[in-house]
Order: sequence, then structure tokens, then C-alpha cells
Amino acid sequence: MNDDISGLVLIVEDEKTIADIQRMYLQKAGFGVHVEVDGVGAMKAARELQPACIVLDVGIPAPDGIEVVKYLRQEGNWTPVLMCTARDDEVDRVLGLEMGADDYITKPFSPRELVARVKAAIRRHNKSAEPEDVLELGEVLLNRATRKVSVAGHDVEFTATEFDLLAYLMTRSGRVISREQLLSDVWGYAAYASNRTVDTHIAQVRSKLGDYSFIRTVRGVGYSADLHE
Ligand code: CA
Repeated sequence: MNDDISGLVLIVEDEKTIADIQRMYLQKAGFGVHVEVDGVGAMKAARELQPACIVLDVGIPAPDGIEVVKYLRQEGNWTPVLMCTARDDEVDRVLGLEMGADDYITKPFSPRELVARVKAAIRRHNKSAEPEDVLELGEVLLNRATRKVSVAGHDVEFTATEFDLLAYLMTRSGRVISREQLLSDVWGYAAYASNRTVDTHIAQVRSKLGDYSFIRTVRGVGYSADLHE
């Protein structure tokens, strides 16, 4: 069995008895463990210790678990997060997180289930960081795992939609993609957005790529990522 998942797990839990149980089982499974009891400590430890996974209680002293995930993602930290929820309304908030938690588990949960979920989250994350998730076209390098883009060696910030749009075109380079296709595949709500939405975002992406842009307009049809026009 391929079960060589290990590394440091950051537990964020303000109830000591629960944290102790989590620590014990994760250590037994071969993980290193660090425990924090509030959102401020969680942010600091996530940045400094670079854990393989974060087991994050939603109900912790501020900022709460939901906010911690948002802040981490905003600063480009894509460490897998397993949220622990105690109530239905917390589950709703976790599910409402845009690009949020990787998984969640509802209290009370068995320690065995916790360990299995942590392993699964790390496994998925490792897999998503494999080379096929790095797209390269000309001087543009796009990493789907970290959601970072570099242009001629410099990191460039893209909004979530711009990033998705660029990734979509790059994975289909050389093919002409219609605006309607982009609307339904990138935006996912074709009925509410217009072709103009696509054009506006394409313009933004082009301007960020600058001299290294490879996005070609195919008159009357759509766009294509094409180095050799
Ligand atoms: Ca709690």
C-alpha cells in the first residue's frame, strides 16, 4: 500500500481535550504535530511552520476558522485545510467558502476518520502539485496548485477569474475557443454574463501578460492561446 504520507500537521483547536486526542492519533499515525488555540496563532504557525495539513476548528477565538482560511488563501497559502465543524450553520459557512477548505469533518468524529481525512487531503494536495499542473507557454508559467503565474520570471497577480480564464486557454493552446464556451466553462453561468464580460477579462489578462501575451483574437469567433499566430 502506498501510505507514505507524513509531515507536520497544524491542529487549531481551543478545547484542550479534543486537541490532545487529535494530537495523540496523528502522532501515532506518524505525523509531527503542532497545536494552536486561536486564529492569530493559526495564521502565524501556518506561515512559519509550513505544515503539510491544517486541522482547523471553525469555532476558535478570532479570527475564526473560516476567516483564517480566507486570509491564508488571500495571501497565496494553499496548504490543505480540514475544517472541523460543530454545528450545521458552520457547515453552511464552510461550504460557502469560495476556494475554501479542502474538506470538512463534523464533530463528534472518530480519531480514525480524522487521520484518514488528513491523509487524503495531503495526498490530493501532493497530487495536484505534480508537474502536469504547471502549464508553460512562451514566457508564461502557470501553476494550478499554487495558483501563481510568472511572466518572464516575475510573479504577476491575477484575480481568480483572470487566473481561471488564462489556465483554461493555456490548457487548450492552439485551439480557438468561442466566447460562449468561455462563459459556460470559466464563468459557469452563461445566462447571466455577456460576451462583453469575456472581452473585458481578456483585456485584463492581456495587459498583465504585457509583451508576452499570446492571446489571439479570432474575429467573429473568440480567442485562442497561440504562440505561433
Ligand atoms: Ca471550538
